[in-house]
Amino acid sequence: MSKIAAPSTLGFEWVLGNVQLGVLVLDTALQVRFANPWLLRRARLPANQVVGRELYEVFPGLRGSHFASRLQHCLNTGFPVLLSESLNPAELPLYATTGPATPEKRLKQSIQIMPMPAEVAQAAGERLVLIQVSDVTPAVARERLLKQQAERMHAMAHLDALTDIGNRRHFDLMYAREWRQALRARRPLSLVLFDVDHFKSYNDHYGHVQGDACLKAVAGVIESLAIRPLDVVCRYGGEEIAMLLPETDLYGALQQAQLALDRVRERALEHAGCERGVLTLSAGVACELPEPGQAADTLLLMADRALYQAKRQGRDRVCTLQLADILQA
Ligand code: GH3
Ligand code: MG
Ligand code: MG
Repeated sequence: MSKIAAPSTLGFEWVLGNVQLGVLVLDTALQVRFANPWLLRRARLPANQVVGRELYEVFPGLRGSHFASRLQHCLNTGFPVLLSESLNPAELPLYATTGPATPEKRLKQSIQIMPMPAEVAQAAGERLVLIQVSDVTPAVARERLLKQQAERMHAMAHLDALTDIGNRRHFDLMYAREWRQALRARRPLSLVLFDVDHFKSYNDHYGHVQGDACLKAVAGVIESLAIRPLDVVCRYGGEEIAMLLPETDLYGALQQAQLALDRVRERALEHAGCERGVLTLSAGVACELPEPGQAADTLLLMADRALYQAKRQGRDRVCTLQLADILQA
């Protein structure tokens, strides 16, 4: 096996001068014994203002920092420490080699503090600490972008494109979640299903584009009533909108439904095909205190039947099933 010689001192100098990470060497008195060009350029300091000086003289902002306490810990225990950007944002005042050196332009850093092992220190005649700094700015930016994209995709997957309220997928998820929660907490869960009256004739009369605008307006009115954090308003189907009201009894849900109908009627959106001449809604309301073993779609079926009744009884009204209706089924 051929023996490979270590690079010359000059060779090592070249390596340290060109390595693409910051290298800082301290002694146990925290004097800077070495700083490589990468670090000096990004600290925007000449070597003579860094080497031979105490660390906190060079970087006063580090005094009392998390970095300082980890460095001390590392010296005390002899164990290496890794400071990640996510937990300890940019502590060293390092900047890109060009452009402003403002706090918001600080490089994102991953810092490793590594004490010299005892046997090496013994051989070297002194104990040093190696600090390596990697610039993780591009990785952090990429991560942020991916997170934003994932959030946007998630929102898009749960939003109805026309009305900007939750879509059916979102409703199904929320419904299943709130049913389970109501069952666990022994709390009532209410549901209101709204349906626009004579919407087919609205489209026929005013055209689909105005029909779309009308649906948006109706969704906006209903959503404006969902003021509690747990209330959920979603587009359930074509011109049907669902309002899920956790921890709400039947009386509260009936009130919310009636308020929505009144608000939409008060908007006085012209609808020539209706007896009233304005656009109206019908609503079916149901409230359940879920029981173990009870089918989760009970509430949906009851609200749907109540809506059907509202339509049958002449529209522009709120209905809920009476005990007699339930027993009859
Ligand atoms: P009812 O009072 O019994 O509910 O009568 P309706 O005409 O509203 O009910 P029907 O189910 O016959 O018609 C619903 C209409 O809603 C038909 C469909 O074209 C319209 N619709 C569904 N989704 C949209 C939409 O996104 N935009 C528009 N403009 N119309 C839609
Ligand atoms: Mg309708
Ligand atoms: Mg309908």
